[in-house]
Amino acid sequence: MPTVAFLGLGAIGAPMARHLAAQPLGLRVWNRTSSRAAAFAAAHGAVHAMTPADAARGADVVITCFPVSGDVESLLDGPDGLLTGLGAGSVLVDCTSGDPATSTRIAARLAAQQVGFLDCPVSGGVVGAEAGTLTIMVGGDAALLERVRPVLEVFGKKIVHCGAIGAGDAVKAVNNALLALHLWSTAEGLMTLQRAGVAPAVALDVINTSSGRSNASMNLFPERVLTRAFPRTFRLALLDKDVGIAAQVAREQRVPAPLLQLTAEFFTAARSALGEEADHVEVVRFIEQLAGTEISA
Ligand code: NDP
Repeated sequence: MPTVAFLGLGAIGAPMARHLAAQPLGLRVWNRTSSRAAAFAAAHGAVHAMTPADAARGADVVITCFPVSGDVESLLDGPDGLLTGLGAGSVLVDCTSGDPATSTRIAARLAAQQVGFLDCPVSGGVVGAEAGTLTIMVGGDAALLERVRPVLEVFGKKIVHCGAIGAGDAVKAVNNALLALHLWSTAEGLMTLQRAGVAPAVALDVINTSSGRSNASMNLFPERVLTRAFPRTFRLALLDKDVGIAAQVAREQRVPAPLLQLTAEFFTAARSALGEEADHVEVVRFIEQLAGTEISA
């Protein structure tokens, strides 16, 4: 097995890295807030790297998982930057849900140094990361994917080569735009039915065996909205970012996509209203405020 470094021990990065730490990969970890990396290293027997360069030095595969592609790009340069540590022949696997344009720029910078790049966003949420069953959508060279596949299989169950660099980012963004649409439209539908005298639980019972069902209706609304639990697993700010990427890709590809554009606008408004730490399902609270109705069990 190759040696691996992991940078970005956030909500989803930390459980992914935990699976890697359990394998003989000589795992090195770096995190912007150093105390999180120190605690992770102590708990899971990894090496705590003090800089991105230090993490990447000697690693065959360097995995990054930050909020946006711009965060990866901002860590490339300088004496402590990734480009200082990455050796020729190594591969940067970016598990950020990123944007194709920035991934393409990063890949070009790395290629000049004989370093490979794959955009590898993941889906399956924190639960999938903890179980090691994430879906990984990959953009970039197929042969490079085969080289790093054993490492990806440590935390991923389904690994799909989607196309050239940026294709993984694009698929992830569109998937999450569909999640956003389902959240929004299901909230509107349930509020409408509640006002019309149908309990949301009864409505979901029907919808979830009918053609209007989705992951939002089958899991998120029963477990998080009807219970009013709203656990924080995936920030609304990140979903807003994803929908924005999908809308941007549609514009770049000259695809008329009014629903994607509208969803992007709407989620940006919800993010402004609810703040950077709100969970993505809390967008329902924003919709409830507009309607003056709370979806109750
Ligand atoms: P979090 O906000 O929980 O964690 C972000 C991580 O990135 C933290 O380690 C943070 O460090 C670090 N970070 C943030 N900004 C910078 C920066 N400018 N420079 C260096 N490090 C930085 O995010 P998630 O883990 O939830 O998400 C990470 C990526 O995975 C996102 O692209 C997201 O869209 C995607 N994703 C998330 C899922 C989820 O369920 N959470 C599901 C699928 C994909 P620090 O500790 O210092 O704050």
